[in-house]
Amino acid sequence: VPAETEPRYSRLARYAPLGAVLPRWQAACCAVAGLGGLGGGLALQLTRLGVRRLLLIDRDTVGEENLGHQALFTEQHARERWPKVEAAAAVVRAVNSAVAAVPLAANLDHRNIRELLSGADIIFDGLDNYAARFLLNDYAVATGAPYFHAGVVRGELSVMAIVPGVTGCLRCVLDGPPPAGSAPTCAGEGLFPPLLGVANALQLDLACRYLAGTLTAADSALYSLALPDWTVRKLRLPGPRADCPCCGQRRFNYLDGLAGALGQAECAPGSASAGLAGGLDLDRAEQVLAAAGLQLARNAYCLVAEQNGRVWTLFPSGRVIQNGSGDAVELNRFLASYLGV
Ligand SMILES: [Zn+2]
Repeated sequence: VPAETEPRYSRLARYAPLGAVLPRWQAACCAVAGLGGLGGGLALQLTRLGVRRLLLIDRDTVGEENLGHQALFTEQHARERWPKVEAAAAVVRAVNSAVAAVPLAANLDHRNIRELLSGADIIFDGLDNYAARFLLNDYAVATGAPYFHAGVVRGELSVMAIVPGVTGCLRCVLDGPPPAGSAPTCAGEGLFPPLLGVANALQLDLACRYLAGTLTAADSALYSLALPDWTVRKLRLPGPRADCPCCGQRRFNYLDGLAGALGQAECAPGSASAGLAGGLDLDRAEQVLAAAGLQLARNAYCLVAEQNGRVWTLFPSGRVIQNGSGDAVELNRFLASYLGV
């Protein structure tokens, strides 16, 4: 009996565009990178579609600040600080025991991405920072795996299908990650949570069309939607751009570890540092960090931010030093949450 004729899949099978590709979903290994608001919604939907295998990738633990908008997590997960991947895997198994959930607690980087995404047929973006998105974009184009990008912040969303050889890629649209602190982040400026589901719907619709074989160069576009007037824009791209450094010229700077803001542990114990290409606008960083409730001090040379025993010193040159912990992952989390890199 084909899986899609089971009662649990009957409503899905009767919607023709989904029913036609349900067997393909159920044979697929899908990866969700980042299990926040976007990734959590994707993980739930993919679980209910009955995908064969679900790779769950995230570096964080569940916190109380996640409960307002991240559908997977409960008060118990937050109280006991569960790794997001373990909390997600437990929910996936409870909802659909036919799905093989694989929790991968890791900070996705150029050294581990090939191992983490090994076997993934389709890659979904639930990330909160552009350095990791550009890494995924490089990986997708280099290996030929389709990548469905999304981002939600404030009342705005963006979604794009990156199907190597068919559509353009993120770097066709953006030269590189926006300068540190210049792009809004959820931690700094919040979001309207229901938009997460809208972004997920668009990601999954594009993925259905990819599985049906009907996604073409005409779908090479960056979709965006903005509240309060629900303005939908479709920025069309002419397929892969010959002068794109990634899909045109096949230079994979993020995958090769030549680009991307990566925090590194310092020789001195208890500190880590990062250098952000393009420098830092300290006025803007100060606004974002103040709005997020960090303790701040400012002088002519740098901005110092403090929270929970950690101290970050930010310089206009783009250098960021973390004291109180030598954990580079913690520094990357700070950079992603507040500066969007
Ligand atoms: Zn490109």
